[in-house]
Amino acid sequence: MAATEAMKPPRVLLVEDEGKTRDSIVEGMTLEGWQVRSADQGVAGLQLAQAEPADLIVLDWMLPDLDGLEVLRRIRASGRTTPVLMLTARGTLTDRLLGLDNGADDYLPKPFAFAELIARCRALLRRPNWAAGRNLQCGDLQLDTRARIAVRSGQEIRLTPREVDVLEYLMRNQGQTVTREMLERDVWKQVHRMTSLDNVIDVQMMRLRKKVDFPGVDRLIHTQRGIGYKMERLAP
Ligand code: CA
Repeated sequence: MAATEAMKPPRVLLVEDEGKTRDSIVEGMTLEGWQVRSADQGVAGLQLAQAEPADLIVLDWMLPDLDGLEVLRRIRASGRTTPVLMLTARGTLTDRLLGLDNGADDYLPKPFAFAELIARCRALLRRPNWAAGRNLQCGDLQLDTRARIAVRSGQEIRLTPREVDVLEYLMRNQGQTVTREMLERDVWKQVHRMTSLDNVIDVQMMRLRKKVDFPGVDRLIHTQRGIGYKMERLAP
């Protein structure tokens, strides 16, 4: 029956080495009616991920044998697009981006409330298949972050490598203000500079906007005067 099919419980793979955390997540998800398999090490988790498909993988970053980032890289290298939520004690934006760059779909810093974990998992489970991979979307703009190709209204947008980096950053932070400092730190990767990169960034943004928000389409990149930029599809 189709209804039964649609209500099949999600299959979750949990890779977490801390026994208490692992047990409580398994218990909580099982109470949600989810099917959970778990591993306490990276290699074992990877083997489970390869052996049996899951709908979602919850992956701890710090693992004793193979760290979560490497597990994630190998899962993606094998072509699997299963959504991956990374758990970690690391909380900096750079770490978050490192995880996202390597194919994580979301990131939850420890400690977290169980309800938050479940909410994030549900959001990932609801996402259409294309979103589980590396494709980002904002309105009619799509970016394939692996092929580094941007398409808007069916038209490919020719971008320089730096423009792709900036666009990806804006798209991953949709709806949030991206300051010049954030771009300087996370895209240009320059932290200690004698002179500010503000002018360089503004010129770069002007070029990118011309290409992305070309005549006849809705504006997606908005200036936050004196602060930075925001990518957002505003309601018509
Ligand atoms: Ca750990």
